[in-house]
Amino acid sequence: MGPVRRPHHTFQPLAEGVRAGIAHPSGAAICNSGVVDLGETPLVFDTGMIPDVGRSLREASIAAFGRAPALVANSHWHLDHTLGNQGLPGIPIWGTRRTREILLEQRSAIEADLDRAGLERGLQELEARRDQGGSEGVFRDLEFLVRIQRALLAAAEPISPTPPDRTFDSRLVLPGSRGAELRSFGSGHTDADAVLWLPGERILFAGDLVVLGVQGSLGSGDPPHWLAVLDELERLRPEAIVPGHGPVTDVAGIDETRQYLRGVLSAAEAPRAAPLPAAIRRWEGSLSLEGNVSFARDWLAKQRSSGRP
Ligand SMILES: [Zn+2]
Repeated sequence: MGPVRRPHHTFQPLAEGVRAGIAHPSGAAICNSGVVDLGETPLVFDTGMIPDVGRSLREASIAAFGRAPALVANSHWHLDHTLGNQGLPGIPIWGTRRTREILLEQRSAIEADLDRAGLERGLQELEARRDQGGSEGVFRDLEFLVRIQRALLAAAEPISPTPPDRTFDSRLVLPGSRGAELRSFGSGHTDADAVLWLPGERILFAGDLVVLGVQGSLGSGDPPHWLAVLDELERLRPEAIVPGHGPVTDVAGIDETRQYLRGVLSAAEAPRAAPLPAAIRRWEGSLSLEGNVSFARDWLAKQRSSGRP
């Protein structure tokens, strides 16, 4: 069976009962998702940027397995992975305890940002910045942000974050004969990221701990510990990895993310005028890289002033 194109994703079969939903580059999903038959019940892993993406993942589950999802899991709190939860009402949502806490803490601020007038204002500002010209990298980043803003504005209903209502800390074996697990190795891309691990098939849905083709965002987590988490993921010996963004990969995707993180950390340690390390030079001139290096610089300075190594 080949890939199946649906409104927000192309679903790629990775094994019997396992579909990787790869987000369309110009669509509203933004992040990749998974639809996995756990044995008796289907699960949706990560739900995209708007409620309609959640609804379309439900349809994808029915089309693939003849059953609607009975569980949702979120890899982390970032809105492009969680706002689609709203389109999957009435079923349990699993996430790490910290993912739930962050979404609850930030819910009213997020709702204020998602207010229609605020979104329209934000869109105008982003389009004006994009049209001012600049490097190709900056243009690409602004195009991406404009696309997110347009997707939110086009949503059919007011959007409010729906946090996970079931939590775990480090390991949860999901119900069903597949023996699928949610695992968390602590802080990395965010305070507590989760991955979906299918031990029988050695398939890993990695969320944004692994990203390809776009830069990961360092601004919500612990960059050095992210490297340690990547080592843990590699120790699982996955044969296929579905990254949070980008095409299906294998352990090479872990290494690519590792090289990027090391490059950002070494740029953050170097004098500001020093040339960028080779691993991140191709990202030069982008807003994400500047943001990531400056976050890493502040983060390392804070660690030093608190006396940590
Ligand atoms: Zn993220």
